[in-house]
Amino acid sequence: MPKYLRDYEVYLVYVDAERCDGCEDCVTYCPVEVFDMSHKAYPTRPQNCLGCRTCVAVCKSKAVIITEI
Ligand code: SF4
Ligand code: SF4
Repeated sequence: MPKYLRDYEVYLVYVDAERCDGCEDCVTYCPVEVFDMSHKAYPTRPQNCLGCRTCVAVCKSKAVIITEI
C-alpha cells in the first residue's frame, strides 16, 4: 500500500486527544495508514482516508470522528 494515495482530502479525520487512550487499534486496522502514534493517535495522512469507518468501529474510546467533506 503506498504511503500517500491522494494529495487532497475527501474525509476529515478527527481524533479527540482527550478521549484517546493510545491503544493503537486505529493504527493497526486502518487499511491505508492514516494514523501515526505518539502517545495519542494522530491522523498524519488524512488524504488517504477511504471513509470505511473501521477506525470508528474499533476505537473503544469513541475518539475518532470521520466526516465527509
Ligand atoms: S483506537 Fe481510539 S483510543 Fe485507540 S489509539 Fe486510536 S483513537 Fe486512540
Ligand atoms: S475511515 Fe477507514 S480509511 Fe479512514 S481513517 Fe478510518 S480506518 Fe482509515
